[in-house]
Amino acid sequence: MAMLIDGKAVAAELRAQLRQKVQRLWQERAIRPGLALLLVGDNPASQVYVRSKAKACQEVGFLSIVEHLPADTPQQVVFDYVARWNEREDIHGILVQLPLPKQIEEQEVLLRIAPWKDVDGFHPENVGRLVLGLPCFVPCTPAGILELLRRYVGPLSGKHVVVVGRSNIVGKPVANLLMQKTPDANAIVTVCHTGAHDLAQYTRQADVLIAAMGVAGIVGPEHLKEGAVVIDVGINRVVDPASGKERLVGDVRFEEVLPRVAAITPVPGGVGPMTIAMLLWNTYRAATGEVWRR
Ligand code: NDP
Repeated sequence: MAMLIDGKAVAAELRAQLRQKVQRLWQERAIRPGLALLLVGDNPASQVYVRSKAKACQEVGFLSIVEHLPADTPQQVVFDYVARWNEREDIHGILVQLPLPKQIEEQEVLLRIAPWKDVDGFHPENVGRLVLGLPCFVPCTPAGILELLRRYVGPLSGKHVVVVGRSNIVGKPVANLLMQKTPDANAIVTVCHTGAHDLAQYTRQADVLIAAMGVAGIVGPEHLKEGAVVIDVGINRVVDPASGKERLVGDVRFEEVLPRVAAITPVPGGVGPMTIAMLLWNTYRAATGEVWRR
């Protein structure tokens, strides 16, 4: 019987812990963690994500600021927001929701976020620190995946983790995180992408498969060895042929692989809620200054 990796429950537990830590931080040091969120344009998924992040901030007692700018906002205006938030003492974390409209260069914006406020972990300084194994803000989705594996699977040392996807947001940082020589990680990591002509040849070797392609239902039982652990990062909107309604599915054909796997994350309710929980933790740590300071 496959074990369900319940990201929703773990995220709720992490938020409850954080609520208490936020109260203590206020009582002991008069600090209230603050997160500034910038949304540019009308991407419906981005709007949902930003709303969920702001709501989660309120739930744990953070200050949160949301700026929603029109899709044709000039790049300089975005730079100015980031510069102002970099200076504000009550803002400890800055998150610019991606993707940005075409006239705004993503990397230029990320470069301008003070690295000690970069709670998404996308600034090159944090990326470099992650690769070097130095204290840093770890991107939220990879951090959430490691937390789930730590709780449900245990030490990964010597286990073969196959990551499918090499984006800067998920694939690359999760591979870097899991290969670190740390007690929680120390895995043997293989990274696949569209250059892999026979994907199953690689994924069938995985003790842990991390699917982060953004292709609905591409992974089936033929991609897995018996008893593998599956982390399904994909969030894909599909129309249910029976009801005609839109629903969210992962990259993995959940029902089909269930008899073959030891444990699996559902979509929704697996990795997604963990991403927001880890964003809150990163913001808390930015406020305490415990990760690293300027
Ligand atoms: P990207 O589109 O940036 O990257 C997808 C990666 O998957 C690329 O490296 C691509 O390879 C690879 N890929 C695509 N198709 C195949 C294939 N058929 N075989 C092998 N590799 C393939 O996506 P993201 O990393 O941003 O996101 C991936 C998914 O995770 C999406 O569904 C996204 O919505 C979801 N997501 C979920 C989060 C959560 O909180 N649960 C957070 C972030 C993302 P190549 O590089 O060669 O093009």
